[in-house]
Amino acid sequence: MYPMIDTHTHFDAPVFDEDRVLQAQKAYSKGVRHLVLVGYLYKHFDRIYETQQALSELEPSESASSASPSTSPDTSPSYPAAHIALGLHPFYIDQHTDAHLTAMAKMLDERRPLAIGEIGLDTYTDEMKTADKFDKQKRFFNAQLDMAVKHQLPVMLHIRKAHAEALAILKAHDYDAHKLGGIAHSFSGGEQEAKAFAKLGFKLGVTGQVTNPNAKKLRRAIQVAVDSYGIECLVIETDCPDMTPVMCQTSANNQSALGMNVDNEWQGAEGYNRNVPANLPWVLKSLSELLEVDSATLAAQLWKNSCAALQTSWAYQ
Ligand SMILES: [Zn+2]
Repeated sequence: MYPMIDTHTHFDAPVFDEDRVLQAQKAYSKGVRHLVLVGYLYKHFDRIYETQQALSELEPSESASSASPSTSPDTSPSYPAAHIALGLHPFYIDQHTDAHLTAMAKMLDERRPLAIGEIGLDTYTDEMKTADKFDKQKRFFNAQLDMAVKHQLPVMLHIRKAHAEALAILKAHDYDAHKLGGIAHSFSGGEQEAKAFAKLGFKLGVTGQVTNPNAKKLRRAIQVAVDSYGIECLVIETDCPDMTPVMCQTSANNQSALGMNVDNEWQGAEGYNRNVPANLPWVLKSLSELLEVDSATLAAQLWKNSCAALQTSWAYQ
């Protein structure tokens, strides 16, 4: 068991309402010490804060437990600390309005999150490639990068089938990942893109996709980025409830539930391979095998990388 940071989750999603406390406890028992709740739609921002609040209330208080380390063994359950990223996700571009951007800017002033995200560009469907949709994505991406610079916050990038365009925007923008950190979450590009994001100072977010031996392009891209930039360029994440590691899949139905129907997320989730933060060790294990770096060394480095990417200094526990 190694201490880990789950840098990208949607643990606030309704699919966890039934057993969130149990899943948080399981995640902790598997080594997950921190997790980030990542925003995608303005209407769910309150839910993210409520989830963080609920999880923080489970913990007795860190100072109380660390003040008496020598007393009887602590048998009460522990839970990962939850943190927040706020962002308007490019996949849901139709649902975002300028009023959401304004309201988000106000929230950043009032309740400073850990990061801005997830933001970026996504042309997964033909519809999203149309000029008006893509232009709107670019406008929202730039506006949120501006917010990150203004508040000096790291960003969580969601880039899918639009790597060249995203890189062009990032290179033209004042946002400096070498200074502010940032993660190319659920990295899905090729070798050149992997190196390009690492060169800009972003960490590549590795999900359960790496556990799939058939994900050859991804595995090669990670390897090539590491050959050039070292294991310092990586972080891990579950992206739960999506991206279930292959060894945890019980159903052939792997469609992303977050991308289905935003008004009715994860209804009938039993039919899907719901991913959970407790599955994060499988990502560590596959990455350790792929890179031929022992798990202990890798886990310690990934912790440092996550802290650098998120501009924090959490103690390795
Ligand atoms: Zn996500």
